[in-house]
Amino acid sequence: MTTDVTSRAQEAYDALVAQGMKLDLTRGKPSAAQLDLSVAMLGLPGERYKAADGTDTRNYQGLQGLTELREIFAPVLQVPVEQLIAFGNSSLELMHDTLVHALLSPLPGAERRWVDEEKVVFLAPVPGYDRHFAVCDRLGIELLAVPMTSEGPDMDVVERLVAADPSIKGIWCVPKYANPDGVVYSDEVTRRLASMPTAASDFRIMWDNAYAVHHLTDEAVEVADVLALAAEAGHADRPFVFGSTSKITLAGAGVAFLGASPANVKWWLALTGKRTIGPDKVNHLRHALFFGDAAGVAAHMEKHRALIAPKFAALEKVLTENFADTPGVSWSTPKGGYFVTLTVPEGRATRIVQLAKEAGISLTPAGATHPGGDDPADSIIRLAPTFPPLDEVEKAMAGVAVCVHLALAEAS
Ligand code: PMP
Repeated sequence: MTTDVTSRAQEAYDALVAQGMKLDLTRGKPSAAQLDLSVAMLGLPGERYKAADGTDTRNYQGLQGLTELREIFAPVLQVPVEQLIAFGNSSLELMHDTLVHALLSPLPGAERRWVDEEKVVFLAPVPGYDRHFAVCDRLGIELLAVPMTSEGPDMDVVERLVAADPSIKGIWCVPKYANPDGVVYSDEVTRRLASMPTAASDFRIMWDNAYAVHHLTDEAVEVADVLALAAEAGHADRPFVFGSTSKITLAGAGVAFLGASPANVKWWLALTGKRTIGPDKVNHLRHALFFGDAAGVAAHMEKHRALIAPKFAALEKVLTENFADTPGVSWSTPKGGYFVTLTVPEGRATRIVQLAKEAGISLTPAGATHPGGDDPADSIIRLAPTFPPLDEVEKAMAGVAVCVHLALAEAS
């Protein structure tokens, strides 16, 4: 019986390999059709260079970024306008720089610079975003994995760790439609993060709200206002909020944002003023004119949804048809964001990714969702369906299903 199943799975796999596919579900990139939605931006701001407040965007000045763009994104990112910075083209860069600044100059509330600490540790809810982990690796910040639940990080674990150990200086959070499992933090998790006692006086939440408006359903999911909750709890300086238009307008040519307490903003701008005279305000104006207001952002995101929701539906369909009754196989059904997490029986993820690769289907390496690239259970695979056209997503997922069947049959 088992042999039959294995040989059938092997046959299907051989047929898949024979097709000589070349498909890619690795990274969360917008497709060309999504980028086309913002192509009109390339003609902006045209000959116009004066902002609403009279700023000549062609010239120096305005380290905090253009006010009219900050006004549009303040409600999107739940940050008061005066506490929001609009900056360069990458939020990852802002996260990196913020940690470099904290290493080299004491944060508000810090006793010393982080380089003068014996060690600096960040909590990494897993599965998580590999580039967050890479920033820490680069800067010598240790990562300590904590488990995710369906409502955010396991707060019993987080509270216990941060209360006991002053070397734990921060936590990575993707609060809405998390990369990679699509989890949305509950209000209770956010409240606990904002108010929990920490042994470190300079503990920070890296609140990476990368998918704030990236809905895949009619429900515009909201998360709690972390800055307000932290301020109410007496920890105003705890959160750094990040976001960008990378997956709203042009990935690589968008605008990134940072929001924080007045003290953090002052600290950040003073240090950043040493590395640049200011951000690209022409791009800020381009974005402000393109959107008009926050409703313009929401309307634009509807167009993205129309393009990518069918890809997520295709992925869901293949998984349901193949694995609805398969023990140990489950997947996330995100209401937004860019990723689906496929969970397979322990020890099988690496094998599936390898089989897919040999069949010409690139998947994110197994383990990428964990610090050090090591998923101890070897059971998590991140799927990113946005970039390829719909027919390729369908083909690639059918191929992934064949690989999962074979990897499971091999282990039975
Ligand atoms: N944060 C998360 C959670 C992401 O998924 C991504 C992009 N994949 C980024 C940040 C990077 O954003 P940016 O282009 O603004 O650097």
